[in-house]
Amino acid sequence: MTLGFKRALHCQKCLSTCFDEKPACPPSTSGFSSAPAALPPGWSFIWSRRIPNKVKVFGWKACRNALPTLENLACRRATITNVCATCQLPGEDLAHILLTFSFSRQVWAISNLPMSIISCWSLDAEHWFRQVCHGLSSSQGDLFLLMSWMLWKNRNKRLMGGMGKLALKVVNEVICQLQGYTKCIASLAPQQCPKIEHLS
Ligand SMILES: [Zn+2]
Repeated sequence: MTLGFKRALHCQKCLSTCFDEKPACPPSTSGFSSAPAALPPGWSFIWSRRIPNKVKVFGWKACRNALPTLENLACRRATITNVCATCQLPGEDLAHILLTFSFSRQVWAISNLPMSIISCWSLDAEHWFRQVCHGLSSSQGDLFLLMSWMLWKNRNKRLMGGMGKLALKVVNEVICQLQGYTKCIASLAPQQCPKIEHLS
């Protein structure tokens, strides 16, 4: 069984059981939508946001499939396993880390972002980010990107043997940090370039 097939199987199982709500996009036989809607081109949906630059870079790397997920590392033969260290399922890719992983589902559920939009993974990470950001309001989109970044950070912490945070704590931290960042940006003069990076 190829890694790609395992991943598709893994995600299909997850997506079919993870969400109570009916996804906005009808799933194809692979578990993903086969006919994604056309979305605005360009990267302003990331770069124009009022979020820390490191979160923007994370979002862009995620869209370019440039993050070192175990699936990517296994494909590049940098590691011998693509099995998620937490739930022992094969195919630890961004769909799993950010969406189908049980902890991520908890975080999204608590976040109050519309699950019908969040849960609709089609094609790949780039399309997911574009689709979700397009479907959310500006402030919801900021929250979504920050939440995704925090999920990635939390995953890295667990992978290194650390204790992951509780879902509620993750959500509260993200909301708090976003509010703090927005407040700081608003207090700056318009001509000042925001360089606030108080998120660790
Ligand atoms: Zn997992």
